[in-house]
Amino acid sequence: MLDIGRAALQLVTDMVGAFPDAPASTFRPWADRYSLIAEPPAEHGRDLATALALFRDAAGEGLETAGPRYFGYVPSGGLYTSAVAELLVRALNRSTGLAGFSPALVAMEDGVIRWLCGEFGLPAGAGGIITTGGSTAHLSALVAARHDRLGETFADGTLYATAHTHYSVAKAARIAGFPASAVRTVPTDARLRMDPAALAAMIAADRDRGARPFLVVANAGTTSTGTVDPLPEVGGVAAREGLWFHVDAAYGGFFQLTERGRAVLRGIEAADSLVVDPHKSLFAPYGTGMLLVRDPGVLRAAHADTGAYLQDLPAPPVPHYADHGPELTRECRGLRLWLPLWLHGVGAFRAALDEKLDLARFAYSELTARGAFECPYPPQLSTVCFALAGAGGAADDANHRLLDEVNAEGRIYLSGTTVEGRYLLRLCVLSHRSHAEHVREALAVLHERAPRPVLTPLSV
Ligand SMILES: *Cc1c(COP(=O)(O)O)cnc(C)c1O
Repeated sequence: MLDIGRAALQLVTDMVGAFPDAPASTFRPWADRYSLIAEPPAEHGRDLATALALFRDAAGEGLETAGPRYFGYVPSGGLYTSAVAELLVRALNRSTGLAGFSPALVAMEDGVIRWLCGEFGLPAGAGGIITTGGSTAHLSALVAARHDRLGETFADGTLYATAHTHYSVAKAARIAGFPASAVRTVPTDARLRMDPAALAAMIAADRDRGARPFLVVANAGTTSTGTVDPLPEVGGVAAREGLWFHVDAAYGGFFQLTERGRAVLRGIEAADSLVVDPHKSLFAPYGTGMLLVRDPGVLRAAHADTGAYLQDLPAPPVPHYADHGPELTRECRGLRLWLPLWLHGVGAFRAALDEKLDLARFAYSELTARGAFECPYPPQLSTVCFALAGAGGAADDANHRLLDEVNAEGRIYLSGTTVEGRYLLRLCVLSHRSHAEHVREALAVLHERAPRPVLTPLSV
């Protein structure tokens, strides 16, 4: 065990140690070297060194998502202390679907969930579940809301979100059995935020035609632009109309730990349910989402079940997570959050998230001040969208080309999106490894490649 562990740890420390100088993406020609890694397992065991070399090669290809200069999509550094937690619980293979298997580890996980519920201002008694990501968390939220508000016959149910809502919400609705027409698109204002008056009017019109509005999904940081819907007003409409109020905070949620984030996310405390992704804004490794609910009883009503083969298990006074979501057997997901929170302290996360907010504001001011770029939506959180200034009718092509060139060069990695018909580049600062020097490097790469604006020097 020690030999295998030491060899693996050596590889990890080498590779993580190389992040500061590693390219932000590496793509090699697709060739036969994949044949060995993809071939069926052999009858007899083979050596660890070759396996580690194959892993190193394979993991070295693609986007360097854990590196400091990855600003595409929604970055996630992946805390080393979470990986250590995984080693602990994986090696001991603890199961936490039913509380009787590992009661104290379930209590540990439940403590993290209840702490977070408190941070969001949810009442005592609130709870939830650590999921594999935001998409699965949305699915459980939708199924709980459907079960609670519509019962078993729900073909006439309608739910409300904006055009900027992550596609996982519509996907969850589809998997939960709703036709595409049940997902209603609420208009937004000039800043891409949900229009609460339009929401109320749509609900009334849908009721008039015999539909049953049951759920509104507000954004607490959209993926494309980081936009936060007016949560107090949207929550107000949901309360008046008797709709379930669900908030998608998958990207933006953990900014709640900061003073500025808390101000931007005001109103989130009224949510019936909310989704946060620790594998985004808590720097946890991939495969870590969270669903928080005001009343875990509704989660249980929608998901709980049992089998004759489970009757003899002890039932300690902690949740059966199998009753909070679709999975029965699951690993201990809590330690990968509990251990980093223990070792680093909440203050370290608060400071890191504050730094991301500062860096996004810095990028925004640099991009807009130097004239080569324009930013149509000032960042509310840590995502800055921008496009080449004054590129005219061929703007989308020029911006696509710029993104391709920047990413092909490999020093930094960015992604693009389309907002209200316009193609925009995105710089999302969210890795715990990204600091001022990395954002400065990104800005330098962009300005090197942007056509120079015609400026009249002051000395003329
Ligand atoms: C990433 C994201 C999701 C989906 O979460 P996964 O963890 O990728 O399944 C949902 N909503 C928002 C706003 C996101 O950024």
